[in-house]
Amino acid sequence: MDEVRRLSAEVVVIGGGSTGCGVARDAAMRGFSTILVERADLAQGTSGRFHGLLHSGARYAVSDPESATECCVENRILKRIQPDAIEPTGGWFVALEGDGPDYSDKFLRAMERNGLPHEEVRLALARRLEPRLTRRAVQVISVDDAAVDGWALALGTVRSALEYGARVLRYTEVKGIGLTGGRTSTVHCRDRRSGEDFVIEAGFIINAAGPWVGRVATLLGIEDVTVEPAQGIMVAVSQRLVSRVLNRLRYPGDGDIMVPAQTVSIIGTTDAPASDPDRLVMPRDKIQQMLDCGEALVPGFRQARGLHCWVGARPLIRDDSVKPAETRKMRRGMFIFDHASRDGVEGMLSVAGGKLTTYRLMAQEVVDQMCLKLGSPRRCRTASEPVPPPPTDHFVAGQVTKPGAGAEAPEIEQPDWPISPAGRQRPTGPRHITDRLAEAESTRADDQIICECELVSRRALVSALRRHPDDSLDDLRRRLRIGMGPCQGGFCAARSAGIACQEDAWSAGQAVAALRLFLRNRWIGQQPLVYGELLKQIALDNWMLYGTLGLEQLPASQEVVL
Ligand SMILES: Cc1cc2nc3c(=O)[nH]c(=O)nc-3n(C[C@H](O)[C@H](O)[C@H](O)COP(=O)(O)OP(=O)(O)OC[C@H]3O[C@@H](n4cnc5c(N)ncnc54)[C@H](O)[C@@H]3O)c2cc1C
Repeated sequence: MDEVRRLSAEVVVIGGGSTGCGVARDAAMRGFSTILVERADLAQGTSGRFHGLLHSGARYAVSDPESATECCVENRILKRIQPDAIEPTGGWFVALEGDGPDYSDKFLRAMERNGLPHEEVRLALARRLEPRLTRRAVQVISVDDAAVDGWALALGTVRSALEYGARVLRYTEVKGIGLTGGRTSTVHCRDRRSGEDFVIEAGFIINAAGPWVGRVATLLGIEDVTVEPAQGIMVAVSQRLVSRVLNRLRYPGDGDIMVPAQTVSIIGTTDAPASDPDRLVMPRDKIQQMLDCGEALVPGFRQARGLHCWVGARPLIRDDSVKPAETRKMRRGMFIFDHASRDGVEGMLSVAGGKLTTYRLMAQEVVDQMCLKLGSPRRCRTASEPVPPPPTDHFVAGQVTKPGAGAEAPEIEQPDWPISPAGRQRPTGPRHITDRLAEAESTRADDQIICECELVSRRALVSALRRHPDDSLDDLRRRLRIGMGPCQGGFCAARSAGIACQEDAWSAGQAVAALRLFLRNRWIGQQPLVYGELLKQIALDNWMLYGTLGLEQLPASQEVVL
């Protein structure tokens, strides 16, 4: 019988969402040999299914001042260290006729009390700056909200971790945790693509599995890690209807935030308990409710073309002072479960709660605690050292990026040749919606655009394929934004699959299987919105892909990608 492969690391991080990526970076920067294990793609869990708002803290000023302050501080830090993932749009809180003054008064008092920056905007000016804002607006207050790209954030963070010597194992599920003398000693993993089982000998484990944190704890027989998955739905329409984040100035409720994200506008969200984070639902009436909420803020929202809807589960810490169904009232702060003091198991901490906005702080606090336990205090430097951009430029034909101060990263995650014409570098600094167009214009003579909606170039696709030949089309979508625009992959998915064959990255059978899987996944987020313009687009896609190309009849490899 074959021997089981064994790896080892001082720190094993379970979960490759924003929190786990942040923990891996922090631990690696402090000099620990680190392995990050993620059961699927990086940031495909909650961190890729969220609203896209870099909180200023204003949202929680009244209900949760502690979280508000954390968000405010982290907002400033992330804008400084990770500008590639953030578009500094600014945000407004808008009261509409009938909203009543009591919340607005409380809000302004709480903002003052907590030192959160804000400023009243004259209505006449507000209408000039956001001409689509409803005429029913009666009060506008500006805050420091921004738009953040969860994938760019996670991939940049992981790039930094790799540069500091960490290893990242994607599509690897933790199936068990071994104990030796009351202390965690091994992490038992399965490579979901090859089916191989292997073991990591672990000096310490940090469980950052988001809404699955409780499930991972049960691998140690610990049943009461009370993380409540609270599901929320979001809907994207195909135009960027507003320039800044719009929040309703009222008690937090369903559908009261609109975020301009890249070329789309996202309205959301809902907040309801979910029994299983792997089985979330998107009822049609909730989708319609979201569209109505968008219409209330921006008349005409319903006329914009619906693009896609999705649902994610917040990893909230159960709050026994509110009823289990009232997840909206639960605290948004982070929590660290110390399994030594509460369960008598040394060698593992679990971290959950918080926001994507506070991922860096969560990582800092849990790694600080780990250092204390290991008796090895080491200073955290993540608040001051810039995070590099994602390895393949996430939204345009990439640029050559300067590695950070760390060791040589493993080949698998590093660009192995320059992917942008020599000397052409994207300027660093805050990202703007126009950056992609500027990049595409600068390379159009020597590169081909394969996704017109999102301006993704052939060079960027080929680069990503060479570095990650096992990636599915959905993985490429998260890296490059292929298929995120109005055609939802109708044109660019088939083109990408064809290029993967031309480049010998995939066989024809693999390309057909990948295309079918991608279209099935896209359909999940399209079908609740199938009316109007989207219906026409879907009919066109169906004719092209299933009629002309005969996708269902083509021979395909067995689907192995998840
Ligand atoms: C609807 C909604 C809207 C939101 N909007 C915002 C917002 O606008 N701004 C904001 O700041 N925050 C927002 N949040 C909160 C934010 O998205 C989350 O707090 C954050 O993304 C959680 O990140 P995480 O890394 O802890 O969890 P996740 O991103 O869920 O990562 C956990 C990872 O663990 C992996 N995993 C699970 N089990 C295993 C296993 N056995 N082995 C290996 N890997 C495993 C999963 O695959 C997953 O990738 C929103 C959340 C929701 C649900």
